[in-house]
Amino acid sequence: MLKSKTFVKKTRSGGIMKIVREHYLRDDIWCGSEVCTECKQEETVLQKDTYIESNLCSFPHYLLPDTNIVLSQIDILEDPLIKNVIILQTVLQEVRHRSAPIYKRLKDILHDKEKHFYTFTNEHHRETYIEREQGESANDRNDRAIRISTKWYSDHLNNTPTDKRLKVVLLTNDRGNKEKAEESGLYSDIIVHRLLAVAIGADSTYPDLMDKHKQSALCNNLNYRHKMAQYAQRASVAYHTQLFFKSRGILNEEGFILFVRKNAIIVLIPKFGLEGTVFFENKDKPSPKLIFNEEAPSLTVEGHSFNMFDKVKVTISLDASNVQHQKIRMSLVEPVISGVSVAPSEPEPEVKRAKLDR
Ligand SMILES: [Zn+2]
Repeated sequence: MLKSKTFVKKTRSGGIMKIVREHYLRDDIWCGSEVCTECKQEETVLQKDTYIESNLCSFPHYLLPDTNIVLSQIDILEDPLIKNVIILQTVLQEVRHRSAPIYKRLKDILHDKEKHFYTFTNEHHRETYIEREQGESANDRNDRAIRISTKWYSDHLNNTPTDKRLKVVLLTNDRGNKEKAEESGLYSDIIVHRLLAVAIGADSTYPDLMDKHKQSALCNNLNYRHKMAQYAQRASVAYHTQLFFKSRGILNEEGFILFVRKNAIIVLIPKFGLEGTVFFENKDKPSPKLIFNEEAPSLTVEGHSFNMFDKVKVTISLDASNVQHQKIRMSLVEPVISGVSVAPSEPEPEVKRAKLDR
């Protein structure tokens, strides 16, 4: 798959420059683990038995250090005891830019068959490559890339049979990265890397945390609570959105296309900060002629082409036909496409409003 990004930039002299960036993403980059049954790899680097003389991690695991850990703890990484480590391409590149001697030492470890250090080319992997977001520094982007890859590995290795399951432990000493990792639910890893920090004498901790059973229980509890909090948050947003639109009947609003899909457009309504999907395929009527262009990207519906950021008009309503599963529905009003768009709704009678003010 080719990902290309075109944008125009104003040069210092006031001219306009068109920049095209191309990046090839692949889906034949393997995880390198012996336990994996999904990847079609001929050789593996990461072992299925990852026993380390350590009571810090009670579970079998692979370590995934970030750039700063490699730069500051290369001695430890060189220790014969440390095996089965994932080195991301992002980390390798950053280390190369920041310290030639440490880069050399890291390359030596990677070549040492006994060490089982695996380079994962995350920057070319379809599922772990990320683009720098607006306002995001190169550094923050790389930290995010490392978190995304850690998450990918965790999820990927979760597909293996339970008795062989391995965890991926992100090693970081960066506070910001740690906090963001916490947001994405990598709590256990945080606890574990704190403990590793204790082990290498970089930090101190409560004696209780050195007990692997107590530690495991703590991690499980943190992760459970975090997951539940996320569910509650999502459900609450959905509930209040539905309550809001329930008393308002069918609304006509202006919006902008955020994404186009094969059979739908995702519309943002700035007035409500609401995102919704306008589907062009309906169970009960014949589908209009749809042409999806992935490269643009654009979606042509009966000859009308939709592009990102196009302005549209939609109706918003609450579909309560299934009480168990009420949904916000959006339908296209403008542009008018015969057989596809709907007529704008009539303004609601005032009676309903009065009821709401009570
Ligand atoms: Zn795999």
